[in-house]
Amino acid sequence: MWARLERLVEAWRDEHGPSVKVLLVADNSLAYALQGDDRRKFAELRGTGEVRTATVADGLVLNLARQNRMHVLSADTFKHLRREHPWIEKAPERFHSWTMDADRIRFVPSGIRRITPGERSWTDDFRTVPAAGSKILLRSWRCDAEPCPYSGTRVGHLLVWPRTDGEGRAVCPECGTPLTGLGRRLPTREILVEDLGTGAEITRFLLEDGFPLVVGRGTASGGVDLQPAGRGPAKPLLRVGRQHALLRLDAAGPPRLTVVDLGTRGGTAIARRDGPGFLEPRRLAPDVETEMSLADLLILGGTAGLRASGA
Ligand SMILES: [Zn+2]
Repeated sequence: MWARLERLVEAWRDEHGPSVKVLLVADNSLAYALQGDDRRKFAELRGTGEVRTATVADGLVLNLARQNRMHVLSADTFKHLRREHPWIEKAPERFHSWTMDADRIRFVPSGIRRITPGERSWTDDFRTVPAAGSKILLRSWRCDAEPCPYSGTRVGHLLVWPRTDGEGRAVCPECGTPLTGLGRRLPTREILVEDLGTGAEITRFLLEDGFPLVVGRGTASGGVDLQPAGRGPAKPLLRVGRQHALLRLDAAGPPRLTVVDLGTRGGTAIARRDGPGFLEPRRLAPDVETEMSLADLLILGGTAGLRASGA
């Protein structure tokens, strides 16, 4: 990961001069998403101040860019912060994404464009049929339709199962746009999110081995927004923080989840599976990694239950 980052910085300097100032900004939770050498290097750079971090880095990135008139290199288009940062839409030339292959890095405009209030409504009438082709389910996908809430996420790929259109193409279940294929999907589990009070399903999302996710309430999580798109606040999520917990699937060996509570007020707990039921939930200390089996129940804010589908 750091080698790729160094290549990126080097390529930027090649284009804009060796003395150009580069600031690295990351989410606090990145520390838990990384493993081994990557994690040690992150701690080191954080210690020396070469990487700056915040609970949700997006705001820090935008503030630094605004104050210092800097450019932003990110796969994110910061849709959820456009109201707070109206300058983004006035300075699209300062936002860059990139493509990287073995030989070279190419910087491309992020494609920031104005989001109009009416832009969501056209998605409401869209009709799709569930994806049947296993080939489609075996690949990872990305939605590139800029107004779609599933596009431009920091995770980069679609966190729900795709659907197919009448011609058998994979399309975004939210906006219906044909998806961009990202290659073979690694082992993946679907995580169900339920109201523990009523048992009603709130939402579901996909967790792929190798792609740790931050779950939280609202798009500022930068990962999984547990709040279903286009609906009012779900009551059981009211005690769920913006960046509540980090989840990682490890499918090498018997599949299991690693969970980190990201210092939340509402708390995170695990209820271990015991026969057909569960043991009394045990609250996790913040910032500590805990492993759970796919059959256990993860509880956010005391009210929202997360469990692996089919486990
Ligand atoms: Zn979409």
